[in-house]
Amino acid sequence: ALFVHGKREARRRRLSSKALPPRPIELRSDEIVPGVSGLIGNTPLVRINSLSDALGVEILGKCEFLNPGGSVKDRVALRVIEDAESRGLLHPHTGSVLFEGTVGSTGISLATVGKAKGYEAHIIMPSDVAIDKVLVLERLGATVERVPPVSIVDQNQFVNLARRRAHEFGNVDLPTKGKATEEDVVVSTQATREDVYGTPTQAHRLAYDKKPRGFFADQFENDANFQAHYHGTGPEIARQTGGHVDAFVSGAGTGGTISGTGVYLKEAVPGIQVVLADPEGSGLYNKVRYGVMYAPQESEGTKRRYQVDTVVEGIGINRITHNFELGEAVIDDAYRITDVEAVAMSRYLVANDGLFLGSSSACNLVASIRLAKTLPAGSRIVTILCDSGARHQTKFWSDEYLANHGIAIDAGIIDKILKE
Ligand code: PMP
Repeated sequence: ALFVHGKREARRRRLSSKALPPRPIELRSDEIVPGVSGLIGNTPLVRINSLSDALGVEILGKCEFLNPGGSVKDRVALRVIEDAESRGLLHPHTGSVLFEGTVGSTGISLATVGKAKGYEAHIIMPSDVAIDKVLVLERLGATVERVPPVSIVDQNQFVNLARRRAHEFGNVDLPTKGKATEEDVVVSTQATREDVYGTPTQAHRLAYDKKPRGFFADQFENDANFQAHYHGTGPEIARQTGGHVDAFVSGAGTGGTISGTGVYLKEAVPGIQVVLADPEGSGLYNKVRYGVMYAPQESEGTKRRYQVDTVVEGIGINRITHNFELGEAVIDDAYRITDVEAVAMSRYLVANDGLFLGSSSACNLVASIRLAKTLPAGSRIVTILCDSGARHQTKFWSDEYLANHGIAIDAGIIDKILKE
């Protein structure tokens, strides 16, 4: 017994070794949060040491991959659901189903927050999205439909199909303004966006009893997406930096992040620049730079409509969504980022910082270092680390996939940009 005691003593002494001071306890939250929804938001900002040290400009990443559903979209899912509940459009534990067209992150967030709040999720995705996200959705008990990637004018395009599926399930659009009686509550595909998102009235509430409903989350057009960032991401960044931030860099898929965060930061931080990171094939870069989706030199000649054809998932689009429009006026500039650059950045960050990130985060950081080179030393840039690399294993993080698509993996490109 003495021997055992002696061993234990030795271990205890080792553990309390003075060689390393104890880490100060810094909790993300000192509360016990009431359920999984309470884990959403209030994400830390991390200094990206390799890039910041090389540039003399501080690059800070907002760690959205730490949200419980693994991405920035948890904020949107929560706000969309709570907004619909406050309008009386959704009642929990009634068998109601959330429908959405998504490249994945929003689906995973709706499935996660849905389960936490008493809803099912039915997710429609283009078939070329990384299978990793489909597997996560299935584990979360969501229904997943994969459809061919086609243009938005096609009625079977993933967003259009999600809207239709919600109707088929028994979604009831809000009655047209001015004749909001219970009898007017008919399935209507004619409702305007003001009808759907306008001020809730008693009649609106009457329209939605506690029957199972299909609810189309509509992240591209639904203001709740913008609001999630205007009331969450934006104020958090302003508080975390004490207003000492010179630029905000973000990609845009629906536009919710850049618009909601950008508009808030423009109001709160005088002189801040808002900059778009856009992947190849997206029209947003041209929209910001030239005011049209197709740059003059691109629309002349071939007149070909650009396809968003990139290994980057979640950002880049060829139409102006309502959520992008809400913040378009605050975007000062845009950078177009190639697949090769995004891939290089993702590998560079693992090698130098131990950060394993998804493709849109990598795009944001390439745009951030390009922007940093135009700013005075000591400036500070905040960008979004949207999700982790874990759900991009079979495309963006697959050497085989990249080789088959002729995309080079060369982290040295980042060193070259840093030294340019
Ligand atoms: N990154 C990822 C991984 C995404 O899924 C999305 C959403 N499509 C974005 C970035 C873009 O965010 P937003 O829709 O707010 O423009």
